[in-house]
This record gives sequence, structure tokens and C-alpha cells, in this order.
Amino acid sequence: MNTETIETLIKSLHRNRIHAKYYKTQDELLASISEHFNSGAIVGVGDSQTLEALGIYNLLKTKEVEFLDKYKTGQSREEKNLLYRRNFSADIFISGINAITLEGKIFNLDGNGSRVAPIIYGPKKVLLVCGTNKIVKNDEEAVVRIKNIAAPIDAKRLNKKTPCVKTGRCMNCSSTDKICNYYTIIQGQFDENRIEVFVIDGEYGY
Ligand code: SF4
Repeated sequence: MNTETIETLIKSLHRNRIHAKYYKTQDELLASISEHFNSGAIVGVGDSQTLEALGIYNLLKTKEVEFLDKYKTGQSREEKNLLYRRNFSADIFISGINAITLEGKIFNLDGNGSRVAPIIYGPKKVLLVCGTNKIVKNDEEAVVRIKNIAAPIDAKRLNKKTPCVKTGRCMNCSSTDKICNYYTIIQGQFDENRIEVFVIDGEYGY
């Protein structure tokens, strides 16, 4: 990704009171994220192929934190719902995103809201991680990206029975399996130390 694009993105996010930093390598990014994992911290995560690809879930298992691990096997639906609610009082919540614009806006899509809700309110600190593949020019491109790339691929991964799984693009469905129930746009925050964005060079997630 060229320097000019990254500088524009970081500057726009700063203008919206969102700190952001660019990392060239996975090692640099993981070292920087690890600085937030104080002993005993309660850490929740959103479902993210980016975090998976970067090894962040595995990293959390090696730290002296209380990891609210939504992927732990054998959890009942009730236990998982409880864990989702505990995310709201976590010290740190980590998530990927679906698109980020050069105007400094962060777009996310969610099926049940368990990811986007704690990003917006609750956890003391929120770390959002994104590959440079998520960078788009403006709001319009962000929505196109979500409808034609992120959502259809995610619907397929989740074995949803939605038309986009077959067509590879959004068909504006009303399916009970629809994963596009909640769109959020973050375009600023009161506490400029809460949400922080980690941009990493390369393709991570979708
Ligand atoms: S609205 Fe429906 S068809 Fe469109 S991307 Fe979402 S799940 Fe797929």
C-alpha cells in the first residue's frame, strides 16, 4: 500500500479523534497489541478472520489475561450469550472491521450485534485490526465492499442459506439467515483513547 494512502487514512482517523497506526509486519503489530495485555485484564473478542489469520486468538491464550474465548469448544448457547454480555464490561475488546474509508470512517456489519455493540459501547478499550485490503475511498465504496465481498464470503463461511452464497453478491434478501442486520459507521468518539486502529500491510480477512 502506498505511503500517501496510509498517511491520508491515519490523518483522517486522527481528525475523527481515533488513534491509528500502520504496521509493516505481523510481528510489529503483535508486539504493539501485546502491550495492552496487562496481567489480569479481561479481554473479549469479536468474530474475525483477520484476528485468526494474524494469530491474535492464539496469542491471547499465552497471556496472563482472562480471555473471554467465544471459540472454546463445548460451550452451550446460554454460556455463549453470557460471554457476549460479559464483553460489555471487558477491559479490552478486540475486533476486525469490514471497511475503512480514506475519510476516516469505520464500517462494520453484524448478524446479531454481539460484535458491533461492544465496539461502540462498554469495554474500556477497543482495538480494531485491519489489513490494507479493507481500505476504500468513501462511504459508497465501503457499502459496495461489504455487499459484494465481505458479507457473501462470511455468509458462506457461516453456512447461511442466503442468496448471496450462490451469487457472490448481495441480493438484498429478507432471509431469516440474513447476516446483514446491523450496519455501523464509526466516525468519531468522545474519548479519543478508547477505540484505536491497527492497520497492517497486506490482505487479512475479507
Ligand atoms: S442482505 Fe442477504 S443477500 Fe445481501 S449480503 Fe446480506 S445476507 Fe447476503
